[in-house]
Amino acid sequence: MALQLFNSLSRQVETFVPLDPERRSSDGRPYVGLYCCGPTVYDYGHIGNFRTFVFSDLVRRYLDFRGYGVRAVMNITDVEDKIIRRVQKSGQGLREFTSVYEKAFLEDLRTLNCQPSEMPRATDHIADMIALISKLEARGLAYRTPDGSVWFSIGNYQGCGCRYGVLKALDFSQMRAGERVAADEYEKESAADFALWKARVPEDGEVSWESPWGPGRPGWHIECSAMSMALLGPSFDLHLGGEDLAFPHHEDEIAQSEGSAMQGPGRPFVKYWLHGAHLLVEGMKMSKSLGNFFTLRDLTAKGFQGREIRQLLMSAYYRETFNFTMDGLAGARSALTRIDECVDKLGGLAGNQNAAADSTLLSAFTEAMDDDLNVARAWAVVFDWVRETNRQLAAKVMTSVQAASALAAWTQINSVLGLGRRVVEEAPADLLALAHERVLAKKAKDFAKADQLRQQVKSQGWVIEDTPAGPRLKRG
Ligand SMILES: [Zn+2]
Repeated sequence: MALQLFNSLSRQVETFVPLDPERRSSDGRPYVGLYCCGPTVYDYGHIGNFRTFVFSDLVRRYLDFRGYGVRAVMNITDVEDKIIRRVQKSGQGLREFTSVYEKAFLEDLRTLNCQPSEMPRATDHIADMIALISKLEARGLAYRTPDGSVWFSIGNYQGCGCRYGVLKALDFSQMRAGERVAADEYEKESAADFALWKARVPEDGEVSWESPWGPGRPGWHIECSAMSMALLGPSFDLHLGGEDLAFPHHEDEIAQSEGSAMQGPGRPFVKYWLHGAHLLVEGMKMSKSLGNFFTLRDLTAKGFQGREIRQLLMSAYYRETFNFTMDGLAGARSALTRIDECVDKLGGLAGNQNAAADSTLLSAFTEAMDDDLNVARAWAVVFDWVRETNRQLAAKVMTSVQAASALAAWTQINSVLGLGRRVVEEAPADLLALAHERVLAKKAKDFAKADQLRQQVKSQGWVIEDTPAGPRLKRG
């Protein structure tokens, strides 16, 4: 079976075929261009945001596993309405303000073991945005208002035979020509012309750029159209984002990008649109007033590891609403322990043996993921395998070659899941010295001293384990 994906454009499951099947990436593999709407850097990212980013990482890793050479782009939105409001409040410059959250975001991605993407900043692509707006203006799809703002004309776009409302069915019955919405984010599901360029107003402070229409700044939607096409070309394979971005953001991206007519006849701006579902926390929509609002940092401060949070965030099928709970995090911890212990035992048995990857395990995993990236099914494959492996190990019926083969398959599967390996922390040398001193004290039957040394080590957060090979320290 080939990879099947639910495409929000057709609202159907489709077989994945790259836009240009003959095109090769620099490493000679079939090329895939992927864009995911990135963070708006005005605050620390919350776990709802990170469900989307971990999903995007999973898609990209799976395409890589399936033999594609992926060029992945995720933008950094570092100028839009919310940011400007916060910048004004903070009294800082735009860059000074956003750089703090941009840096934090990159650290958070590392915590979650997301592979680095190309991450263009909106403020580094203002010229591309101006060029795109100029193109739309030249094609009669954009118009100026006397204040120096530029708007996208939905009426004229439809007049060219284009359809506005491809990702979402829209009600045009209430629409009056030239009705406009200035905000970057709007709830309205009936269409209205939206801002491409916003003329400078006093509340923008220092945040403005020169343009053919006078000083101002881009609208949020044009940012993604300009950055994605600048890096991936006017037509590319995959566009990802949370389902809350489908309208108006992605709808507007399609209108602006295809309105530029840079794609050439019959070619879409994006071939496949994938939208991740919402995240609930403890059964409710995340909100600060309910006390169920968590940034990634809130969770690591509670002692959870990035890989545990990652495992939980990608435990469910992406198109289903997922309920993130503290119990779920504890479950992720024990699930990872089960995997880690199994993999450690396999490692012990395999020794230096090399073997081809277990194809039965790989095909079961691939079949699950090919089914519209159904990671919930893939986890079931992994846990069945862990259970069966433990049974065989306990019954001592597994050979070292079989163990090596299982490990080789796991390594490939884990290149998709991105769980890394359990980090075994090295104990500090001075504590190890105390542990050895304790062995000598025990030999000399000075049990009071031995006990005092044990306590001393324990007070530093470590536990001594006596093994035939000598004392070992683990975190207690
Ligand atoms: Zn976007």
